[in-house]
Amino acid sequence: MSGHLVACHECDLLQRLPEVPPGAQARCGRCGYVLARPKTDSIERTIALLVAGVFLFAIFNAFPFLAFKKEGFVQQSHLATGIVQLFRQGMTGVGCLVALTTIIAPGLQMAMFLYVLVPLRFGRRAPGMFRVFRYLNVIAPWGMVEVFMLGVLVSIVKLAKMATIVPGPAVWALVALMFTLAAASAALDPHEVWDRWEVRQ
Ligand SMILES: [Zn+2]
Repeated sequence: MSGHLVACHECDLLQRLPEVPPGAQARCGRCGYVLARPKTDSIERTIALLVAGVFLFAIFNAFPFLAFKKEGFVQQSHLATGIVQLFRQGMTGVGCLVALTTIIAPGLQMAMFLYVLVPLRFGRRAPGMFRVFRYLNVIAPWGMVEVFMLGVLVSIVKLAKMATIVPGPAVWALVALMFTLAAASAALDPHEVWDRWEVRQ
């Protein structure tokens, strides 16, 4: 490979990018903007983090979220039952938003990432991977587990006056999921995805 043409994001200078070894970086010849900074084993590390994310996501959905204890009475709540409660109380909009930002968007995001990356890891291209990889940018802003976490913390503080609140395994899974997803998107080098995609064409 003799490298490919790239346009600088800052000054639009078109230049041929050489093969950049991991750990090094290529800068624009005119303005010094960083054009490429390859990460070592980017795809492998992203897949590993995503697999961990899928497990945490399963725990987050399957285990109790919070337990309320009051006068010997214990009530456990799961994320799904919480969403169902929102619908029953007529808060359809809030219910949809919680379902979208905590279950649908993060779940879809991880599934789409793995759909593109796993075949690529083994030198194959998933059908339509180009489009799927682009749609990821549309879905990403809707995965807002950290906003949800903030909401949970606020409600724990407020409800603590009325009952004893015990965070369930799902809360810890959610905290870990937050960091795992952030690490996965930081580990991925989109250039490597395009490079491997081109090689297989
Ligand atoms: Zn430039």
